[in-house]
Amino acid sequence: MEKVIIVRYSELHLKGKNRGYFERVLIINMEKALKGLKHEIKRQSGRYLVECFEEIETDEIISRLKKVFGIHSLSVALKVDSNVENIYSAAEKVCFDSGKFKVETHRADKTFPLNSLELSAEIGGRLLSKFKNLSVDVHKPQFTVNIDVRENGTSLIFNEFFKGAGGMPVGTSGKGMLLISGGIDSPVAGHMILKRGMQLSCLHFHSYPYTNLQARDKVIELAKVLAGYSGGLKLNIVSVTHIQEEIHKKCNGEFMVTLLRRFMMRIAERVAEKCGAQCLITGESLGQVASQTVEGITSSNSVVKNLPVLRPLCGFDKDEIIERSRDIGAYEISIQPYEDCCTVFLPKHPVIKPSLKSIIEEESKLDVDALLEEALKTLEVLTL
Ligand code: ATP
Ligand code: MG
Repeated sequence: MEKVIIVRYSELHLKGKNRGYFERVLIINMEKALKGLKHEIKRQSGRYLVECFEEIETDEIISRLKKVFGIHSLSVALKVDSNVENIYSAAEKVCFDSGKFKVETHRADKTFPLNSLELSAEIGGRLLSKFKNLSVDVHKPQFTVNIDVRENGTSLIFNEFFKGAGGMPVGTSGKGMLLISGGIDSPVAGHMILKRGMQLSCLHFHSYPYTNLQARDKVIELAKVLAGYSGGLKLNIVSVTHIQEEIHKKCNGEFMVTLLRRFMMRIAERVAEKCGAQCLITGESLGQVASQTVEGITSSNSVVKNLPVLRPLCGFDKDEIIERSRDIGAYEISIQPYEDCCTVFLPKHPVIKPSLKSIIEEESKLDVDALLEEALKTLEVLTL
């Protein structure tokens, strides 16, 4: 009798040629997630089995696989050769000794001597005589003993399903560049895009020495959270210190954030093209702050020439975003109180609905191309 883990994936969007590709990427991602742990992954008609692992590492394997997108559900199961005696021995082990239960059998091996109903009845009957405080309730059981009689002469017996991360395997939907700040929103936006199967690179802007090294470390920690869901990623870091100093010196202070945003988007598009990213992703949510009014978004969007900008949080309330942030394990990092570059030289009254004409007028006081070139020279790339 061997302990194994059943990995099921959602087959909804798996049609034709897509399927083989999806499965290949998923298995690569599972291997990455399980790196450093002893295991073997085997494919078995529409699902995977993780085998040959150390029993003591079962929980660790489950918790890592729960972060792999494309997985629908997971079960820890006992694997036995298919005969009634073996199946009963395993069922005895996964059965609780009291409560309402049922036995559910799925029989892929049509040569097995008992059909599904007969096997369920046989195993259920034996369990009832062994555990006196058990009773059968097929409609509202407290637990279910599941028996899977496989085509290959083995059976899997298990009693619970863990919910997987859902979504699609990271790498099956292209590659995007996430603008990541130290805030709550952008890591959540990144997580949502990873879930749709897109691989991410991250890009962070700092204003050292106006922002400190702790702010940088915080962003590295946040990017590592996302790396945990994607088998690793690259974090690009660019300094906008001089850009901010120039805006501060030469332009109307009310336009600081608006102008900075335009620089960020221009730099992001260039870095994205360098790393082969096909879109930009931000954590903007409509109307949340001054720069996220439709006018603010128009202003930052209009400098991006070739790539679409995805804003997955556009329709979310802050409390919904916070809930997601907690779920993905980013919240406690995001709320550490270090300054972001957007809070440096912050005006008392930022323009709320800037007209594009007034923005371009302010911007014309700067040598945009030279500032861009200079900022791009500060690019650092960390592999996480
Ligand atoms: P967040 O919680 O992600 O910081 P926010 O609600 O604080 O979002 P802003 O600070 O206005 O909103 O930023 C909007 C978006 O712009 C962010 O979600 C992020 O995608 C991008 N952004 C802001 N600051 C930076 C930065 N320093 N580096 C990279 N991207 C940034
Ligand atoms: Mg922010």
